[in-house]
Amino acid sequence: MDDRLKEYASRYGTPLYVYQLQDVRKAAAALLRILPAPSALYYSVKANPHPLILHELTRLGLRSEVSSTGEMRAALAAGQGPSNILYTGPGKRVGDIRAAVRAGLRHFSVESDTERRRLADAAAREGRDVEYLIRINALVGATGASGLRMSGVPSQFGIDYRLAHSRPEAFQPLGPARPVGVHLFPATNMADPASLIDEFTLSIETAAVLVEKVGLDASLIDLGGGFAAPFAQPGDRPDYPGLRTALEQQLSRRFAGWRDGEPTVAFESGRYLVAACGTLLTTVLDVKTSGDRTFVVLDAGTHVLGGMSGLGRIMPPSVLPWSPPSAGEQGDARSVSLVGPLCTPLDVLNRSAVVRVPAPGDLLCVPNVGAYGLTASLLAFLGHPLAAEIVVDGNTVVDARRLELCETRLGGRGT
Ligand SMILES: *Cc1c(COP(=O)(O)O)cnc(C)c1O
Repeated sequence: MDDRLKEYASRYGTPLYVYQLQDVRKAAAALLRILPAPSALYYSVKANPHPLILHELTRLGLRSEVSSTGEMRAALAAGQGPSNILYTGPGKRVGDIRAAVRAGLRHFSVESDTERRRLADAAAREGRDVEYLIRINALVGATGASGLRMSGVPSQFGIDYRLAHSRPEAFQPLGPARPVGVHLFPATNMADPASLIDEFTLSIETAAVLVEKVGLDASLIDLGGGFAAPFAQPGDRPDYPGLRTALEQQLSRRFAGWRDGEPTVAFESGRYLVAACGTLLTTVLDVKTSGDRTFVVLDAGTHVLGGMSGLGRIMPPSVLPWSPPSAGEQGDARSVSLVGPLCTPLDVLNRSAVVRVPAPGDLLCVPNVGAYGLTASLLAFLGHPLAAEIVVDGNTVVDARRLELCETRLGGRGT
């Protein structure tokens, strides 16, 4: 194990997230090389809202995609200009929209006609103009990745075609709210380059067909993301050969002015940008045998990592530490269960990790947890202190913190 990681663990305690800014820069440069040029890139703040990560990506010229007032405030505090923030997400509350408008945000992704009205109303009450993208629930979500390979024929755009006809009012300006484009984000974490190219091709078609049908003079087409990254396992980001060229061709075919920013073509990414920057250090608290299984009890459970795995959305629990623990170096690798300290049999990070069996006190490292790590976990469950987080740039620790839950007393009864 890297001696510096050991030193961080002893200085700050475990569980400890270590975020390396060098890796954030590398990932951003890698993604910008993959994308068509010119294009705008939004960082999806939900992947990791740490202020220094946000600041780094903002400094590199990325925009921010937020879907709560908390994420919005984090982006603004990191120096992001309000006009570079896109507010997305279903179920935006009136108060949230008003707060965003008041903070100077201009761009919203609206998910329904109800929301479009809510946006127009909030903007009117704040006395500001806003622009919105209409988010399209593309065909991809319904057909799955394999269906993507049959893209490119008009019949595949049935849902979107119908939507354009059944809800054309969504594309009409309403009070101070003006439609300026479409937003698609049909899938995520697609490691196969050909599938991702197919998906974007389908999205470009969908966007082009809609914009044409409703006669929208689009200035922003947000094609979403889908760029994959390993999670809590060793591995590298895919590099998507051919994606840039393929999409540049598709864009030129469907949006003649895109190279001049008419429309601006945008992409979004969370995990691709930050997954690799994060490493979780966790200490083995106990090792024991029950029946024929060995259980390795760690100080990092689902309150620290993998809280969303139960949703089946991110990844089943499959944490694989990359540093063989020193005490296990005599033994062969075998299958163990990696569990956390929470009082529930569901606090499992990996049911059968093949590792050399560690000893109590050993330090394990979990790689590629810079995205959907701490803030995507069950922070309040069981009341342990939250994991510490440090940010390093090369060999320098530039920030060290521990988030805390705090109580706010609410005002009197009947209010
Ligand atoms: C979550 C989300 C993303 C980021 O997804 P990743 O898989 O982390 O890249 C992008 N756009 C929207 C609208 C999202 O909700």
